[in-house]
Amino acid sequence: MMNLKMYINGEWVDAQSGNTRVIVNPASGETIALAAEGGVEDARHAIQAAREAFDSGIWSELPAVERGRMLLAVADRLEQQAEEIGRLETLDNGKPLRETAFDVADAAACFRYYAGIVSKPDGQTYHVADPVQAMVVREPVGVCGLIVPWNYPLLMAVWKIAPALAAGNTIVFKPSEVTPVTAQKLFAILEEVGVPKGVANLVMGAGATVGNEIAESHLVDKISFTGGTATGRSIMRAATGNIKKISLELGGKSPNIVFADADFDTAVDYALFGIFANQGQVCSAGSRLLLEDSIHDRFVERLVERAKKIRVGAGDHPSTEMGPLVSQAHMEKVLHYIELGKSEGARLLCGGNRITATGLENGYFVEPTIFTDTTPSMKIVQEEIFGPVLAIQRFTDEADAIRLANDTVYGLAGGVFTQDGAKAMRVIRKLRAGITWINCYHPTYNEAPWGGYKQSGIGRGLGTYGYEEFTEVKQININLQVQPSGWFEE
Ligand code: NAD
Repeated sequence: MMNLKMYINGEWVDAQSGNTRVIVNPASGETIALAAEGGVEDARHAIQAAREAFDSGIWSELPAVERGRMLLAVADRLEQQAEEIGRLETLDNGKPLRETAFDVADAAACFRYYAGIVSKPDGQTYHVADPVQAMVVREPVGVCGLIVPWNYPLLMAVWKIAPALAAGNTIVFKPSEVTPVTAQKLFAILEEVGVPKGVANLVMGAGATVGNEIAESHLVDKISFTGGTATGRSIMRAATGNIKKISLELGGKSPNIVFADADFDTAVDYALFGIFANQGQVCSAGSRLLLEDSIHDRFVERLVERAKKIRVGAGDHPSTEMGPLVSQAHMEKVLHYIELGKSEGARLLCGGNRITATGLENGYFVEPTIFTDTTPSMKIVQEEIFGPVLAIQRFTDEADAIRLANDTVYGLAGGVFTQDGAKAMRVIRKLRAGITWINCYHPTYNEAPWGGYKQSGIGRGLGTYGYEEFTEVKQININLQVQPSGWFEE
């Protein structure tokens, strides 16, 4: 049994209240850890530490290459400990080991990317009118509150922590209360590589208390949040008090469009990957599959055949392809949506149940589930289920596909499959979404911006865009001829 502590001002501490939270392995329902359950007072302690560390200049005034060197050391250590961290992530979140191995490797790559960015040319100069030379520089925003969900516990943390620290900010990080385990490893590494005390703080606890305090505090300059759209709305409201800078990466209900001329096997393969990877708990999941009428029946037949073959099991079993959902509460939410789909009149093609086979009966396993014969107004078509549930929609032509694809309050992601390159580009350019794919689904890189249109968020993570979100822009005007302006008579 692990005892998880918070890391505040360079010290590993319990909650001031002494409260703890039970952390469960979703594959078995067994307790794996007791986590310090922080409260508002712990959040305030961490915010104060981050404020003092920022104001002291101990981090922002460190030469950028020195910060970069530490971030490179973090990447090295993540790789050295990859097996253990991957195993812990699987234990805590449930996802298969092959996915957590990928997440840890990607996390290391993210630290390397941002370690490199700090030493790249930056800023602009202007010489518009004599005698003033103007320049633009980027500076850290200050104290950044970073709040993440449970679906990629380590990776979501790193997507924010790496650019925030690279840019010279100090941070207060809150993992999801459901999955706090790998954050311990990450903060232990930050401590080992020499990140000064107070610069990086880890607070654990509930969103309504710890999360809300971070979003509200006037000592916090920026909030970067990944999670559900409803929570994002609440964070925006809480952040108004001191006009915090905000970045929000929220939910989605993304369309994956397959035209009749697509490479059939490739499209089937990515349709499965789009919805069932990570048990469907992916913000950018291709949770709506849009099929051109003429291929619907053949496509669905093959898709169902393959969905039924997906090996569902404990994430630490080597042959497992799909693990359990993250928690009992989340499993119940997903099962509720499946019942809703049936009662709304959609046709259930496969799955639809909790898996209770021997060995899995205490875990939160749900069958890969596919519905067709849906209508656009159904809740299973409009709302984010965040589980292994696919809703199929049929379309007649290109215009119909685009109309259906954009018929959503979200705008995070989308894909199109066709062998007609011009058609692919036409459709992608019409999609109101921030992350898109042609003839594939899901590949994405630390170098490219991540984020959504519409109610899927504000701003972009990753790439140079993600770095800029953690900076303020300052113009500096330099008078090259130091003499009075003469505007007012002496
Ligand atoms: P969630 O919104 O319930 O929680 C996310 C985080 O916010 C958690 O740490 C939680 O404790 C905290 N929180 C909850 N209420 C809060 C409040 N009032 N104030 C401050 N913090 C609060 O989301 P979840 O259930 O953990 O994750 C699933 C959601 O995350 C899905 O909607 C998914 O689409 C989204 N997501 C988006 C992206 C993206 O990049 N766009 C990536 C991953 C997940």
